[in-house]
Amino acid sequence: MNTHTTSRVLRVALPVPLAQLFDYLPATDGQFAPAGARVLVPFGRRKLVGIVVESGVPSSVPEERLLRALALLDEGQPLLDAGLMGLLAWCWQYYKHAPGEVLQTALPPALRKPDATLPPAPAQFALTAEGEARLQLPTGRAPAQYALLQKLALGPVSEIGLALEGPRWRTTLARLVDQGWVHSAPLVASEPHINPGPVLTREQRSVVNAFSSGDSHFQCHLLDGVTGSGKTEVYLHLLEPVLKAGKQGLVLVPEIGLTPQLLHRFRQRLGLDPVVIHSRISQGERLGAWEAARSGRSRLVIGTRSALFTPMPALGLIILDEEHDSSFKQQEGFRFSARDVAVKRAADLDIPVVLGSATPSLETLNNAQAGRYTWHRLRQRATQAALPTWRILDMNQNSRHQGLAGGAVELMAETLSRREQVMVFLNRRGWAPVLMCEECGWHALCERCDSNLTWHRSAARLCCHHCGHQRRVPALCPNCRADALSGAGEGTQQLERAIQERFPGVPVLRFDRDSTSRKDSFSNQVEQVMQGGPCILVGTQMLAKGHHFPDVTLVVVVNIDQALYSADFRALERLGQTLLQVSGRAGREEKPGSVILQTFHPDNESLALLISRGYEAFALGQLEERRLAQLPPVTFQALLRAEALIRKDVELFLSAAAESFPQGAARVFGPMPAIKEKVAGRYRMYLLLQSNTRAELHQQIDSWLIPLQALPLGRKVRWAIDVDPQEL
Ligand SMILES: [Zn+2]
Ligand SMILES: [Zn+2]
Repeated sequence: MNTHTTSRVLRVALPVPLAQLFDYLPATDGQFAPAGARVLVPFGRRKLVGIVVESGVPSSVPEERLLRALALLDEGQPLLDAGLMGLLAWCWQYYKHAPGEVLQTALPPALRKPDATLPPAPAQFALTAEGEARLQLPTGRAPAQYALLQKLALGPVSEIGLALEGPRWRTTLARLVDQGWVHSAPLVASEPHINPGPVLTREQRSVVNAFSSGDSHFQCHLLDGVTGSGKTEVYLHLLEPVLKAGKQGLVLVPEIGLTPQLLHRFRQRLGLDPVVIHSRISQGERLGAWEAARSGRSRLVIGTRSALFTPMPALGLIILDEEHDSSFKQQEGFRFSARDVAVKRAADLDIPVVLGSATPSLETLNNAQAGRYTWHRLRQRATQAALPTWRILDMNQNSRHQGLAGGAVELMAETLSRREQVMVFLNRRGWAPVLMCEECGWHALCERCDSNLTWHRSAARLCCHHCGHQRRVPALCPNCRADALSGAGEGTQQLERAIQERFPGVPVLRFDRDSTSRKDSFSNQVEQVMQGGPCILVGTQMLAKGHHFPDVTLVVVVNIDQALYSADFRALERLGQTLLQVSGRAGREEKPGSVILQTFHPDNESLALLISRGYEAFALGQLEERRLAQLPPVTFQALLRAEALIRKDVELFLSAAAESFPQGAARVFGPMPAIKEKVAGRYRMYLLLQSNTRAELHQQIDSWLIPLQALPLGRKVRWAIDVDPQEL
């Protein structure tokens, strides 16, 4: 045997939460599988499916301690190509997450099991010359066979097409193949057949022109277009030349944006069937879709966050719609940002990427303002429909009915009497209980760093989520001495009850996770609203996205003060995004909607800017405030999150971790409780790490990882690093 290969190994990523790769000798046939291939290996008492990261590399483990891989799967072909392997390696280094768990994300769930195999390449079937001849003869005694010959006489048909012929098509087809009347050939990629769409507006045209005059190298484009400005039409125009050139397109949308209407529109305009990849389809369907993209057979993939890592050998364009949407950041396990990794993937492949939004995130606006991204604006609505009008309702000047202002109740009554519909929207994004005085508007600020404080009701404490400072809840308002301190905001259920009492006989439909968790109830409720007639919709952000309700002409937003003074510094940015989305749900051409904002702080400057000058001015103002406060996106953050059943364990672990954090420009704050401190009986806390440069932050975290893993207290808690966190 070749002795020089004996100390050379397969370096394998395994689906275990450990920050390392594992060395194995190749399986007994001695073959070194290429990087990206699946192997079956022994691990303790288990057998695990691993992915080869490096092949034929020397090992520092003595040979007698090395185990041998059990089998090479998929006949040794790499399932993940070299480009994708490089991107995933970048991901585990950047997000400080276990490599095996990162690589798992790129495999469809079905292929994470050892006995799963790649689906066979689908075939298409066509008539042979003998088959043509048979068709000239009478039907005979097998009419089903004859009917199938007739269908194939019109042109080759895929298995999917034949399945439409009824349950016994396989048997019938097998007879025809046996007779030599039909032969099979591998299914080739379907060619697009572009159908013309509506005439582009001047603004849409100039974006499309800017693209076609540029080349197809890497560039990140921000498509910043108001609701109704026709961003999807622009996406379709940008995809056309890519698909016609034989390349592939990847379109990522938030979970809620992946509707049958959207798929229908892409199919109808581009003349090919996109494959759809998201977490709710069956494992079999997902495997089929993944393999269609990987083989290059499918030209267009539309999916959610989890579709980002789909292997696509001819990828030519990535589009990410609603780029500001928080669902693009995974909030558990491998906490990656699909938006940021999509930009990285495009840069690696040297292809363009488009980030679309009516309300771009401050991260993206910061890049556009600095000239790193090309900024395209669409400011006109393609339909010419009027934008809704906005009005602030001062809660100090109004009678109050369980969270509703008297002025709002009057307007609701008027709207219903015109047989139109009302939406009452409860803002819950960036939700953190805020202690406020209902007499003078005082709210709690941190004495040390000026951040807003969160009210942890059960512990009767006010907590700063930026520097970790905590203090007791005062009994009276420290400003006016009134006994009027309360946590702003009512729940949807109380609000629904209050509205029902005030408007007896009017249907009240509640849209939130509790009321719409049954599969059909959301669409049933939507249907009821669409039928028209007076009704009141009550709900949270589920109402803000997706559906347009033309008969809703009044939107009442009830508790924006929570977001104005939230401890989460992103709450105001998200409020702006949510308000724009909510207002986009209402009104129609002849009846524009109006939006009422209830607040105890009618003179809030950010709110005034949003209403008088629109989202861009508001967002750039927010960005300036972040600069002054030295917060992301102008500075860089990471969290060390930890949780356990016993609060003291979490606190002690984080304190020890903070002490072991290396000296340098990046600073460590905390331990402090998470805004949602107790979830499912477990206490959650974090350390905040912040620096003015990304490089310094990452350098210090990287040299921290080994002492951190060695902390004995770490065994009592669950901990994880969250890079570029979106929630506190
Ligand atoms: Zn007060
Ligand atoms: Zn503070």
